[in-house]
Amino acid sequence: MPASERDFIIIGQGLAGSILAIELIKRGLSVMVIDNAHKGSSSKVAAGIINPITGHRLNLTEGFVDYFQSAKQFYLYAERILDESFISEIEQSRLIKNQGQANYFDERLNELNYQSFLEVSGENSSFKQNEFGCATIKKTSLVDSKSLLSLSRKWLQNQDAYLQAKIEYSEINFGENEIEYRGAKAAKLIFCEGYQATNNPWLKSLPFKLAKGEVLTVEAKNAPESMLSWGNWLVPGKNKSYKLGSSYDWNDTSLNPSDTVKQKLLGSLELHTYIQAAIIIKHEVGVRPTTTDRNAFLGRISGLKNAYCFNGFGSKGCLTIPYHAELLCEHMLNDRPLPEKLTKWL
Ligand SMILES: Cc1cc2nc3c(=O)[nH]c(=O)nc-3n(C[C@H](O)[C@H](O)[C@H](O)COP(=O)(O)OP(=O)(O)OC[C@H]3O[C@@H](n4cnc5c(N)ncnc54)[C@H](O)[C@@H]3O)c2cc1C
Repeated sequence: MPASERDFIIIGQGLAGSILAIELIKRGLSVMVIDNAHKGSSSKVAAGIINPITGHRLNLTEGFVDYFQSAKQFYLYAERILDESFISEIEQSRLIKNQGQANYFDERLNELNYQSFLEVSGENSSFKQNEFGCATIKKTSLVDSKSLLSLSRKWLQNQDAYLQAKIEYSEINFGENEIEYRGAKAAKLIFCEGYQATNNPWLKSLPFKLAKGEVLTVEAKNAPESMLSWGNWLVPGKNKSYKLGSSYDWNDTSLNPSDTVKQKLLGSLELHTYIQAAIIIKHEVGVRPTTTDRNAFLGRISGLKNAYCFNGFGSKGCLTIPYHAELLCEHMLNDRPLPEKLTKWL
């Protein structure tokens, strides 16, 4: 099908663009996804963790149950069409680090909505200091986001629905009923550029609060098959490797790996666990498209009739993107209103 007959042009094939493209095609629409293969994109380095309980206070992610239901449904659908396994449950043991955290843990154990997520697990022999015990965080999952990206790209290529190119914003023509870019025409266009939306003339003033993140892939001695967390985390990766992460730098969006961050991650592993990172296989950097109020940016861009934004998925994209993709599809195709907190900046 020539590009001129598409229903949608999607700019960006990170997790957001890929998941949205699959959702639209599932609903019978045609797309052309254009991606510039930028090396600092967040999806390329994501560890794929879906973790219901995070932060020092062991908070349950708001909306987790709904998000997870959509995510599970999406990844199982993607497994069927792409013929690969993407989501698996993983056991997570979380170190309770001090008395303050032990108090929060006790409080959480008595809260009804935490009961299906938290359990006391006593000691874990991987941790050095076990004074306050550990929590088992249930319903933790791992998404193989790298395979999802590469297989969905191939799947799109096979339907002539993918183009590797950098969009030049000045060359997009917004017509009354269609959008044209270098001869390619579509009824609607959706921007899914992750943190690079800060270069987009129509989106650059959105309240992003970008966070550079770094993650190490290591060969680890004495590491369990489960996930360990203690403020940082260690999760099993491919070919017996492990991912050790991650960092947050709110002031730097350069894409160079920092030796200081590497030493901090390794130091933290050594301080809290008996696991040795014997070999560093990879040290990767990405920039999270985090937002000041932690809500995503979803909906039609004001002043541009047929252009939409699908962005702002910060640090939990594997969990939250499928749910938001459904919301945007329902909005664009069936006029279902979007929550004001997602549209207010657009
Ligand atoms: C170190 C680190 C670890 C993380 N770990 C996890 C985790 O364990 N679990 C989790 O859920 N989340 C994790 N995240 C967050 C997750 O990566 C993001 O939520 C998610 O990947 C955001 O996806 P996105 O598609 O919106 O953005 P991106 O991944 O940035 O994708 C945007 C895409 O658009 C393309 N693009 C941009 N501009 C243009 C243009 N002008 N023309 C053409 N193409 C363009 C880019 O090349 C890119 O492919 C992590 C992030 C980091 C940095």
